[in-house]
Amino acid sequence: MEKTNENSAPSPQQRWDPFLKEWVIYAPARSKRPFQGKEFAKNEPKKTWTCPFCPDAPEGAGIWTVKQLPNRFASLNEIAPEFVQKSVGNLYNYQTASNYGKCEVILYSQDHDTSFGTLAMANIVALIDLWAERYIALQNMPEMRYPFIMENRGKEIGNSMTHPHGQIYSFPYLPPKMERKFIAFKDYYSTNQSCLMCDILQEELQDSSRIIEQNEDFIAEIPFYAHWAFEVQITAKRHVTSIADLSPSERSNLAVIMQNVVRRYDTLFGDGGIMPYVMAMYNAPVNVDDRDRWHFHIEFYTPFRGKDKWKFLAGVELGANTFISDALPEQNAKILRDLQI
Ligand SMILES: [Zn+2]
Ligand SMILES: [Zn+2]
Repeated sequence: MEKTNENSAPSPQQRWDPFLKEWVIYAPARSKRPFQGKEFAKNEPKKTWTCPFCPDAPEGAGIWTVKQLPNRFASLNEIAPEFVQKSVGNLYNYQTASNYGKCEVILYSQDHDTSFGTLAMANIVALIDLWAERYIALQNMPEMRYPFIMENRGKEIGNSMTHPHGQIYSFPYLPPKMERKFIAFKDYYSTNQSCLMCDILQEELQDSSRIIEQNEDFIAEIPFYAHWAFEVQITAKRHVTSIADLSPSERSNLAVIMQNVVRRYDTLFGDGGIMPYVMAMYNAPVNVDDRDRWHFHIEFYTPFRGKDKWKFLAGVELGANTFISDALPEQNAKILRDLQI
């Protein structure tokens, strides 16, 4: 096994869990990244700290609406050796691989004090255009399999920077959730010669009890099988594989419905501020066969399950990977639908 003495930094690596059959990423350098939750506390005067993404800092300099940057504390990086699964010496049940991949930061605005819910519509459309551009650029890297576009918002879920931003993690393999979804799309197609998401969408539109809102091109709903109490899924009504396939009018309608979902979250428990959430964008995998089986969708999760009530992942969730939710999706969909935003 690779020796790590106390004087050298432990090397970043991925290790294969042979039971769950999934990779675990080890990024020791990340422990040095700044957590600015304290410095960024709401009531402190702005100039007592420096934000690296603001226009007066090098990374935020210049005139721009939205901006892509390399992640300075990347868990995955392009300079890592090629992604090859190999055993550790003669411990054949232990497999490792390099941290090959790419981590990027996407700045949503120059304005430190704004958030997704308050951005101008043209700003969100510019953001959608940048996401689409980055998805295509990452697809053009032959080793990549999954560019994962996401946002972590709120210090409660570990976001150390309050400047509005999201991230893109590009993996040289399909992460487990994406792989399971992809298998579901392909299996359903081979049995039914149709798309699972397109067929579900037709049923949702007939039923409507879980729909929060919809426009010409998108629907926002709490899925029938939601894991989190206020999990929201945005689905394209047309069968499109990725954000890059959306027309200009679809991009405008996506901007509207995404912002409305965030505004509903902020109105629900935000107390006039912002509610913590995770936004996960599910584009098709890249550089794989049958990628057109995939149907573009976005998921939002928030750890809140009620006012001042927090969903903790405990024994059944962590030990059995089985979620227990205390509200039916239809009940909470009505709460979100009825909010005045
Ligand atoms: Zn800032
Ligand atoms: Zn479809």
